[in-house]
Amino acid sequence: MASHVVGYPRMGPKRELKFALESFWDGKSSAEDLKKVAADLRSSIWKQMAAVGIKYIPSNTFAYYDQVLDTTAMLGAVPSRYGWNGGEIEFDTYFSMARGNASVPAMEMTKWFDTNYHFIVPELGPDVNFCYASHKAVDEYKEAKALGVDTVPVLVGPVSYLLLSKPAKGVEKSFSLLSLLDKILPIYKEVVTELKAAGASWIQFDEPTLVKDLDSHQLHAFTSAYSELESSLSGVNVLIETYFADVPAEAFKTLTSLKGVTGFGFDLIRGTKTLDLIKGGFPSGKYLFAGVVDGRNIWANDLVGSLSILQSLEAIVGKDKLVVSTSCSLLHTAVDLVNETKLDKELKSWLAFAAQKVVEVNALAKALAGHQDEAFFSANVAAQASRKVSPRVTNEAVQKAAAALKGSDHRRVTNVSARLDAQQKKLNLPVLPTTTIGSFPQTMELRRVRREYKAKKVSEENYINSIKEEINKVVKLQEELDIDVLVHGEPERNDMVEYFGEQLSGFAFTVNGWVQSYGSRCVKPPIIYGDVSRPKPMTVFWSSMAQSMTARPMKGMLTGPVTILNWSFVRNDQPRFETCYQIALAIKDEVEDLEKAGINVIQIDEAALREGLPLRKSEEAFYLEWAVHSFRITNCGVLDTTQIHTHMCYSNFNDIIHSIIDMDADVITIENSRSDEKLLSVFREGVKYGAGIGPGVYDIHSPRIPSTDEIADRINKMLQVLETNILWVNPDCGLKTRKYTEVKPALLNMVAAAKLIRTQL
Ligand code: GLN
Ligand code: ZN
Repeated sequence: MASHVVGYPRMGPKRELKFALESFWDGKSSAEDLKKVAADLRSSIWKQMAAVGIKYIPSNTFAYYDQVLDTTAMLGAVPSRYGWNGGEIEFDTYFSMARGNASVPAMEMTKWFDTNYHFIVPELGPDVNFCYASHKAVDEYKEAKALGVDTVPVLVGPVSYLLLSKPAKGVEKSFSLLSLLDKILPIYKEVVTELKAAGASWIQFDEPTLVKDLDSHQLHAFTSAYSELESSLSGVNVLIETYFADVPAEAFKTLTSLKGVTGFGFDLIRGTKTLDLIKGGFPSGKYLFAGVVDGRNIWANDLVGSLSILQSLEAIVGKDKLVVSTSCSLLHTAVDLVNETKLDKELKSWLAFAAQKVVEVNALAKALAGHQDEAFFSANVAAQASRKVSPRVTNEAVQKAAAALKGSDHRRVTNVSARLDAQQKKLNLPVLPTTTIGSFPQTMELRRVRREYKAKKVSEENYINSIKEEINKVVKLQEELDIDVLVHGEPERNDMVEYFGEQLSGFAFTVNGWVQSYGSRCVKPPIIYGDVSRPKPMTVFWSSMAQSMTARPMKGMLTGPVTILNWSFVRNDQPRFETCYQIALAIKDEVEDLEKAGINVIQIDEAALREGLPLRKSEEAFYLEWAVHSFRITNCGVLDTTQIHTHMCYSNFNDIIHSIIDMDADVITIENSRSDEKLLSVFREGVKYGAGIGPGVYDIHSPRIPSTDEIADRINKMLQVLETNILWVNPDCGLKTRKYTEVKPALLNMVAAAKLIRTQL
């Protein structure tokens, strides 16, 4: 019985690659230094998997930046603005595409399916001269072989590559990216030929787009691509790997009928229907790579449960054709539990990071072959059992309260226009009120104070005084700038999810549980392991302190339940919506406490609501229903005179605008940085929006300071579509990453623009 791993994290157990990359980019170390760190990481990963006993070990899943960009390099599809003149693609061209350079901006980056990983979007058109320009896949295969490890080279499959691309600027809308298949396949053939010559006996093609909603034309592309590759692929085993969901029935038929393919990989964790599909018909004589170990989460596998699934699959495909695998690349989970020094023993026994998941895959394969490691299995059984009954996990009261929410509707009693009237009487704001999204610049000094307080090197009293001083500075600045609705600036927060997670029960935090987000950037998601509750108020102290410093309205600032959920590792022993409802109840308590403390405007950020959208259309409605419901739960109990704001990142809302309206917030501020057009077109098309809305009037992601005229122009454009009395004026996101030298003049111009337009109304 064989074992396989779809892919492995690249950053290293202590983010070694991140530091090596950043030091190279800063000119502090050489290309050779960077290559050495990378080679050492690859070598240790391969050797580790080999030592565990994994049979099919992946290579070419390492990337200096991104595996899709690696494919773009392999195909020589470098956009002309990077001035590449042919030859093997080196760091300068590669990193220019990824990050831009002094004269040219980077290529676009977008989310890899519904993960928090971002890839570099290929820009393709009819004029691209594809050529074999990066031999990385072959080089990595040979590198592993030289270390004594025979690997399965992994390539982003040709069809998924094209389906994930976008037409280059200036290319006609009618241009079909799939028409480029004929041009890229010859390069894939060259790569395959070289891999075979180097000794590869298996090649893995990742074709995850097969799990999306594809039309028959797109599906047909798979059939033609692999027919075309068939002769080159003879003499080597081919695995087509899918992940992140089940493959829809039609696509399953197409996939399993592909020519020249020896095995198929499926996600059995998120692919809830995969098992039935396989039971319904799997081609005889082909290998099934069964992804039973979750690559997207940090929980230890339920080995006994997995084993029974594997046994039922074995009955279908035969003993020698079943391969135990991960549900997807382990890129999306944390690297190694060994480095978690601060988690207690019990919690640790419930977890498995990438390194531990590799061991689980192997243990399952061995067990299937009749060599069950009894000690390993019984420890796993004990851990699973302790998690089930642990009082740290289950809180009866929370379970009951959350269960009671289902099915019922939670809405404020008064409609939004009447609420806005009541609020205006209390708040007395000018038209086009100005505000900001929450955070103000986080100085080195602030970070130091927080760090030292955490390490108990600074007393509570000193800490409170430092934060208070900072809030006071931010309040005074906003008053000077004459902003209408103030914020306290969030100086006490390191991160908008972690800050709340640390104060809620049911959350745990890792020291090294980093997951790559893009390039060298990583995030460290909290772990939600138990029922969530709020032992005591979380923000009331700081918000009331801030409110006491000014006569103007001070916004209470909270992170919403959906965002907390989407940016955490979520428990897998109950549906996501249940966990979300629990968080909603905790935030509801906080909202009500803020109201009691005299805070009349409360912002509940749902920055990540949009990004939790499922991969398939058929599942969207259900997600949006509970996500929006969770948001409404947080504030359904407040007075009409309490103004609820929400904030969202990403400007692509057109498809979910009705859900946004259904959130029933009094005011929404949204990221709108690069263009107003996309957003405003919804309203131009007649969607009625009666609540307050503040599409960001300038881009906070750039150090550029927008002029008053430019902001005034944007406000005027918005006024052509939106009623004067609902428009708010604000930047498009928090100011945390900016400097005061940028923030002050930008906000000054923003307020001036609002005032200018007020005089013209
Ligand atoms: N209130 C948060 C801030 O201003 C919102 C951040 C976000 O939307 N990502 O920093
Ligand atoms: Zn934002």
